[in-house]
Amino acid sequence: MKGTVYKSTGSWYHVKGEDGEFYKCRIKGKFRIQGIKSTNPVAVGDRVIFEIEEGEEVTGVIKEIEDRDNYIIRKSVNLSKQTHIIATNIDQAFLLITLNNPPTFTTFIDRFLVTAEAYHIKTILLFNKIDTYNDEELGEVKYLAALYRSVGYECIGISAKTGKNVDKVKDLMTGKTSMISGHSGTGKSTLVNAIEPTLDLKTAGISEQHKQGQHTTTFAEMYDLSFDARIIDTPGIKGFGVVEMEKEELGDYFPEFFALKQECKFNNCLHIDEPKCAVKDALEEGEIAWSRYKSYLQIIEGEDEQQYRVDNYA
Ligand code: GDP
Ligand code: ZN
Repeated sequence: MKGTVYKSTGSWYHVKGEDGEFYKCRIKGKFRIQGIKSTNPVAVGDRVIFEIEEGEEVTGVIKEIEDRDNYIIRKSVNLSKQTHIIATNIDQAFLLITLNNPPTFTTFIDRFLVTAEAYHIKTILLFNKIDTYNDEELGEVKYLAALYRSVGYECIGISAKTGKNVDKVKDLMTGKTSMISGHSGTGKSTLVNAIEPTLDLKTAGISEQHKQGQHTTTFAEMYDLSFDARIIDTPGIKGFGVVEMEKEELGDYFPEFFALKQECKFNNCLHIDEPKCAVKDALEEGEIAWSRYKSYLQIIEGEDEQQYRVDNYA
């Protein structure tokens, strides 16, 4: 039978079969694993083929994993530095942004987006708490939304508290598997409650209790919503985890830089101090936002490792 992994507890996988039933499954034997070596061969989100075993209890044995659309990983902090796959086959991420309570800086947004691009995960920006903003702050939200729309990201102003535009978020979620990300306090659990009051996600509560930098074992879990949508909850993980890339690659994950790459004189242009750089020209002409370029430089220069590492929100 075909199925999807909703939860993993180390040795057991909870797989939802095509029949809509959940099966406790194990893995047996060797797997053809694509691309990545990890401590867990099967992860939440994986589409699998399993065989049902009738015993005292009906269980299943996972035989095959279908090709993954994408995956997000975490590196364990112990000496072995092994890779752990947190989740796979994520259709989209919603990034919750608030202006000042707590502040979400553009450097954070851009780092998130770079990682999402590298992992091939579509991101939608949700500017939350718009019920609390004055005219000036609303102007700032408008500015940011226009900036990120021009780069290609969908942006919506919402209030998880009053319900404003929450129906738009629900529409976007329909038929898909989503992650909800953002700093603590931006309203992730309030939004989930507004969407599905009976769903008690661990996301916010647990991640807030976790001290920064402390990587205790957390298990991702997928939940069905009442309207043909799934949410992947990754307690303790606010972003996409680690992504490794070469300097030359970074510009590819800024869509507006990538679009100009062909026009740079050098095909390996880093857009820093090379002559005839189309990205810097566009910057001077105001076609690329300085905040985006600043984020780019901070990442590429590894400025302030602690604060700016690409994986700093994992
Ligand atoms: P999380 O840490 O991202 O899950 O954030 P929470 O959902 O716990 O929200 C943090 C605080 O912000 C709570 O006090 C919420 O009531 C409040 N909050 C969340 N969304 C909104 C909103 O749209 N408007 C207002 N005024 N408060 C909100
Ligand atoms: Zn260039």
